[in-house]
Amino acid sequence: MTLLIATRNAHKLAEIREMLPGITLRGTEAWPEAPDPEETGETFEANARIKAEAWCAATGLPALADDSGLEVEALGGEPGIRSARYAGVHGDTAANNAKLLRALEGVPQGRRGARFVCALALALPGQPTRTLRGVCVGRIADAPSGAGGFGYDPLFIPEGHSRSFADLPAEVKATLSHRAQAFARARAEWFAAEADR
Ligand code: IMP
Repeated sequence: MTLLIATRNAHKLAEIREMLPGITLRGTEAWPEAPDPEETGETFEANARIKAEAWCAATGLPALADDSGLEVEALGGEPGIRSARYAGVHGDTAANNAKLLRALEGVPQGRRGARFVCALALALPGQPTRTLRGVCVGRIADAPSGAGGFGYDPLFIPEGHSRSFADLPAEVKATLSHRAQAFARARAEWFAAEADR
């Protein structure tokens, strides 16, 4: 099986290649005209499904899409599906992190619980789309620390650790992260037969 990774982001494609060894993957670059679907879903799974189904329909290939973000308990799950554009501008990490710290001002460490979520959707031609998710539980620090990772990593301290994802070695994040958990499940539940070939 050739699996299309439903993203325009070459960095994400490279990352996913590492997490799905033994599976033949394709990027979307051979379809420059295909429209990027609007992510109008209200859940991570719904948005992953929209992307996977749109790319499956456009190419006729099985398509895998992901959608991820950060949910903070004291904020009722915000920023959630709006993680990338929490402060207004898509991908403005500094503004997003500053807004998150402001929103949690005065909230003590014991009430700063949070989790990263990564949903995956697999769309196969003529079959119902399947979804699953991986979760990484932790808390939001009082101040950013560390230079590694991306996005909210300088503010996120995974459970069982005292340093942020940006501070911890990349290998630690690579085993603990929501994305690692989701792809471990996908390998076991969706691709076990493929990877064994
Ligand atoms: P996407 O699903 O890759 O577009 O990610 C959505 C947004 O969630 C990103 O722009 C980040 O703000 C946040 N996010 C997702 N995964 C991570 C992570 O591993 N570390 C930090 N931030 C993340």
